Amino acid sequence: MCSSPETSREHAPPQCFFPEAQEIGRDLRKNLVTVPSCDTHNSKKSKDDEFFRAVVLFTAVAANKVAKHQFMGKMMRAVARKPHAYSHFFKDEGTLADGTAHALRIERERFDTCIDHLVRAIFYDTYKQKWILPMFIVSPNFYSTIDNDRAVPHSPTYDAIRVSRQFLGQEAVRGENPDIFKYRVRYDEEAKMYAFAGIFYDFFEVYSASSPELTNAAI
Ligand SMILES: [Zn+2]
Repeated sequence: MCSSPETSREHAPPQCFFPEAQEIGRDLRKNLVTVPSCDTHNSKKSKDDEFFRAVVLFTAVAANKVAKHQFMGKMMRAVARKPHAYSHFFKDEGTLADGTAHALRIERERFDTCIDHLVRAIFYDTYKQKWILPMFIVSPNFYSTIDNDRAVPHSPTYDAIRVSRQFLGQEAVRGENPDIFKYRVRYDEEAKMYAFAGIFYDFFEVYSASSPELTNAAI
């Protein structure tokens, strides 16, 4: 997104989401999406990539075999190597009294930055141009807070998801390693509207949309 010359390629999503074939016994790195990057931004991203993966895996670990594999292997080895870094990713908010869930607080802004990069990279890969307007990002897998010992769903999120699903309704599901990541995109040139929906490990969902109208509404 900057104007520095391209010196490397960056994966979208980060390569660390995808197990290596020799570890899992099949090729789950088929035609990964990469986009041009400058050195500064690519190396700056590597810590965020680890945070991004940790948040998604903590949420999705029980959802499918690949998530469990990646959580127990690659991620737990990284936690053992640098427990300090990982303890900063999550603030423990305790277990709900009914025992149904354990709450971890994350730095949401940082997570949204990771999604922002991903969604712009996918746009570039799909439509061969840059998307520069702000992206709005929501996920039904996040809760707002805990109130009276209940996780409170973030209700504006559900409205945004309904609108995104409608807009993306007819679009094909993309992504050659769907156990790890699949997505739908749509760009309406007339309305200058771009929308994205992605699912990690069959479980963690994220929606993003952007248009001049949405930007103006936010201001
Ligand atoms: Zn750059």
